[in-house]
Amino acid sequence: MDLLEHEGKQLLSACGVPTPDGATVAEASEAAAIAAALESRVVVKAQVAAGKRGKSGAVRFAEGPAEAQRAAAELLGATVGGFPVERVLVERALPIARERYAAILNDPATKGPLLLFAASGGMEVEEPGGQVLRLPVDIRTGPTAPEVAELVAGTDVPEEQRPAIVDILLRIYGLYRDFDAELVEINPLAVTGDGGVVAADAKVSLDPGAVPRQAGRLPSGSADGRVATETALERTAGELGLPFIEFDGQVGVLSNGAGLTMTTVDAVHHYGGRPANFLEIGGDAYTKATAALRLVLDNPNVRSLLVNFCGAFARTDVMTEGVLNAIGELRPSVPVYFCIHGTGEAEAVAMVRERMAIEPYEHMDDAVRAAVAAAGQEGG
Ligand code: GDP
Ligand code: MN
Repeated sequence: MDLLEHEGKQLLSACGVPTPDGATVAEASEAAAIAAALESRVVVKAQVAAGKRGKSGAVRFAEGPAEAQRAAAELLGATVGGFPVERVLVERALPIARERYAAILNDPATKGPLLLFAASGGMEVEEPGGQVLRLPVDIRTGPTAPEVAELVAGTDVPEEQRPAIVDILLRIYGLYRDFDAELVEINPLAVTGDGGVVAADAKVSLDPGAVPRQAGRLPSGSADGRVATETALERTAGELGLPFIEFDGQVGVLSNGAGLTMTTVDAVHHYGGRPANFLEIGGDAYTKATAALRLVLDNPNVRSLLVNFCGAFARTDVMTEGVLNAIGELRPSVPVYFCIHGTGEAEAVAMVRERMAIEPYEHMDDAVRAAVAAAGQEGG
């Protein structure tokens, strides 16, 4: 779950990382009031879960309250990176002398935390030429101060600036650990004219699975941010307790067990199709099948429906009966393709033949190919 910049900065600040003075507002007139209170040049920044705001004009500088109000009025209600701007952050503008880069993230290669630091940060850090130093961290011990000091000493950061940077790197690791973050990134980590080091931007992303246990400690409203990234169907699925993720494809998927469902989604891709969703229904498919099928069919992109069941403890005949009842009730206008194996298979297959007058596929690959072809995509 991505936090907005100002939410990330609240966590950084709570963890002892210096951040600029400022506040978020939803009205342009309030931006003027904040700028007046700060009595300084300010920066007005769109609060959206998108990066590269600097390049898209969503970070504006203002000399005083009137300019701040104008900048806020232009940004509020605009769309940045596909997101509507509902709030802007108005902050004291920093006299930035140098822009550096600091981050901690989950590293798939080492399967552990990775601390990153670059002496040159800012908007061009991802471009070639910049050097990002990496320190894999042992999650059991965390990084030690000498290790981090050695990392920073490997750059051209002047000696007198190093302790503040080492301190910040250790603190963002603390934030990462304490808040179950997947990413904490400060870019730029600004060095001001007087040698202070301040987080001018913040990108904090939390493990979505940990959000419920962290909710009480997060900046108010930020846990709701998760909802904003859910589609309407995903929200409904959440209320029904069904694990459902919407994709942008055309093949509706209904399967049992998370592993088989992921495999089914992968197989749709493999045969040149695009899945419309991930939807796993388990042993209680019988009771939830109608709600589940409605989720799949309510997606207007769906052109075919693929039902893939494999039963061990879960009986495929029970699951199939649930789905057939749901099909009888909802009468999908798209073709349906079945593949059924495991416990209760013979009864399940017989039921599909009898009630739908179609033949379930013996091989999952064939069912997937048929569903992909029917959705108007490559068969292959
Ligand atoms: P992003 O483009 O979405 O990552 O937004 P940032 O918050 O990083 O802002 C983009 C750029 O604006 C930064 O790389 C800085 O160069 C500049 N910037 C942001 N805040 C300040 C500030 O307070 N003072 C100054 N001088 N520049 C700033
Ligand atoms: Mn940035």
